Amino acid sequence: MLAYTTHDVRVVAEVAELPPQDGWACFAPTDQARLECSCGYTEGPMLKAMAKLTAHQHIHGFA
Ligand SMILES: [Zn+2]
Repeated sequence: MLAYTTHDVRVVAEVAELPPQDGWACFAPTDQARLECSCGYTEGPMLKAMAKLTAHQHIHGFA
């Protein structure tokens, strides 16, 4: 365990579950993603472009 809080933000792409076809579960990518940070911070789902910006701001601040 680290003595200080690090921010290791993951951008997790959201997938949409579609009705099964021929018994196979189907998933489709969406334009949505959510954030999961090692510090416990989570955000989203939001647009992927927004997720990258929000992740950057979480680590580096708004300046
Ligand atoms: Zn964090």
